[in-house]
Amino acid sequence: MSCLARNSQSAPAPEAQAASGGRLVTVFSAEDIAGRVRGMAAEIDACYGDEPLVAVCVLKGACIFFSDLVRALRNSKLELEFIRIASYGMGTASSGQVVFSKDVENDIRGKHVLLVEDIVDSGRSMRFVLDTFAARGPRSLRVAALVNKTGRREKEVSVDFIGFSLDSGFLVGYGLDYAERYRALPGIYELEPAKG
Ligand code: 5GP
Ligand code: MG
Repeated sequence: MSCLARNSQSAPAPEAQAASGGRLVTVFSAEDIAGRVRGMAAEIDACYGDEPLVAVCVLKGACIFFSDLVRALRNSKLELEFIRIASYGMGTASSGQVVFSKDVENDIRGKHVLLVEDIVDSGRSMRFVLDTFAARGPRSLRVAALVNKTGRREKEVSVDFIGFSLDSGFLVGYGLDYAERYRALPGIYELEPAKG
């Protein structure tokens, strides 16, 4: 029995009805994602071999993708770092502003650096991180993104390792949120707005 059972109502299935009143439609299942993450890990291992590598998680959206990806890598000299940027507010449209609110804790100079991002959309966020990191003199700098959304690209970003490519759509689940909800869902879903 749940610790809250005495005061709780039974919860609805997450896939059926989104909290916003819209619907969650599966875009990539947990199995689809696991297969692509294994494939990306193989591509990354083929690129770096066993060279020392710093994998940088872009919080919060990439946290679950990052956790699965780094555990699928064979690299024995892997270091993990975390950064946090904010480019979206609490809605589905970009504010256009990028803020660096948490930085890596160790110097990246002279190191192979792999930025691990959930989605590259307009490219503004990744362009900002790439420019900031490039100025620090890494040995190499590459990007792995779970989803490359191409329909609204404003800034040129070369995504070296791509999980899935999509033109458009607002996605939630597997780390991706809408107003901080849905991050813990196992698959990736399109959030369809409520009708009417
Ligand atoms: P960009 O700066 O490339 O426009 O936006 C990148 C960031 O916006 C992503 O890292 C992600 O956090 C957020 N974002 C872009 N598209 C989506 C989406 O479909 N769903 C969610 N939850 N976040 C998105
Ligand atoms: Mg993000």
